[in-house]
Amino acid sequence: MKMGKAAVMVDFDKPFEVRNYPLPDKVEQGAVLVKMVMAGICGTDVHTWLGHTGGKILNFPVILGHENVGEIVELGGEVKDWNGIPLKKGDRITWPTTIGTYCYQCFNCTVAGIPNKCLQRKTYGAGITSEQSPHFLGGWAEYCYLYPRTSLFKLPDGLPAEALVASGCAAPTMVHASEKADIHVGDTVVVQGSGPVGLFGLIVARENGAGKVIVVGGPTERLDLARRWGADATIDISEVKDPKDRVQLVKEKSLSKYGADVVFECSGVPAAFAEGAQYARDGGRYVIVGQFMDAGPSETFHPFWITFKELTVMGSYSWEPKHTGRAVALIDRIKDKYSLKDIVTDRFKLEQTTEAIQAVRDWKTIKAVLVP
Ligand SMILES: [Zn+2]
Ligand SMILES: [Zn+2]
Repeated sequence: MKMGKAAVMVDFDKPFEVRNYPLPDKVEQGAVLVKMVMAGICGTDVHTWLGHTGGKILNFPVILGHENVGEIVELGGEVKDWNGIPLKKGDRITWPTTIGTYCYQCFNCTVAGIPNKCLQRKTYGAGITSEQSPHFLGGWAEYCYLYPRTSLFKLPDGLPAEALVASGCAAPTMVHASEKADIHVGDTVVVQGSGPVGLFGLIVARENGAGKVIVVGGPTERLDLARRWGADATIDISEVKDPKDRVQLVKEKSLSKYGADVVFECSGVPAAFAEGAQYARDGGRYVIVGQFMDAGPSETFHPFWITFKELTVMGSYSWEPKHTGRAVALIDRIKDKYSLKDIVTDRFKLEQTTEAIQAVRDWKTIKAVLVP
């Protein structure tokens, strides 16, 4: 029996263990077995590891890892990717976190029209224990088993795995959010937060034809990167400490002096909500992307602003498979323009998973990846 290694999470905030599991002896019709090329460590993984995921109970042990590139080693019959491209052994693919696909039958999939909120959704990388077959259901392992109907995307030749993994969850998250924001050519777009999601907010704004992009965040290195990536202006929150002054600065720096056409909240900080609403012009659009975990209330928000400004406030949660496809196409086109693969600053082996996740937790790395 062929075996493979996996880094498994045995409990919250405990060191990861490397365990050996047997590979499935048969790959079912429509499924795919990949050898992992690279897997990213996302901020969400840190929250999962530390137990910040609320009431969601993990079935320990589990294999985390949802920013993945794998190389196909086995296919169950004829399998096509989501763009209709027939897949073969040796192809490099990526896939979103959902096991199989959305059900397209539940209330959220059909009536509400938001399959990213599918009520039947199960996920790779935390959802199912690694103790039961097929064991390999997360990216932090030598292999990953992809069930039939999973949305698979073939990587274009010449697209380095680093560029895709470095863009991670941030890319499809912001592709989705930018559709909500409906950015028009020439818009002033303000991005709150300069983490991976915020930096991709800058990229999608730029690539959607924004006239001016302003990034509000920190620390300095992140804002330097934002300017290299085409931010017209940055506001460092450690230098401009009073939110009132930042609101004033945004208005001065906006193309129309009435404020931003679009604001993306990508910081995850509840207080950013009240501040961002004040950046927006009358009739502006405010998309809240960063509040992926409940970090508490925003106490200084005035609902009056929404009415008085006729502000449109929208939430954007995770993404759908189509956004992964659009993100892959975008990343392939802009990979050199933004030197995306250079964002990967730290590589770790499976045996170093604890060290790797601690580095991400402690903000000691821009992008850390596991190379099994
Ligand atoms: Zn993620
Ligand atoms: Zn559904």
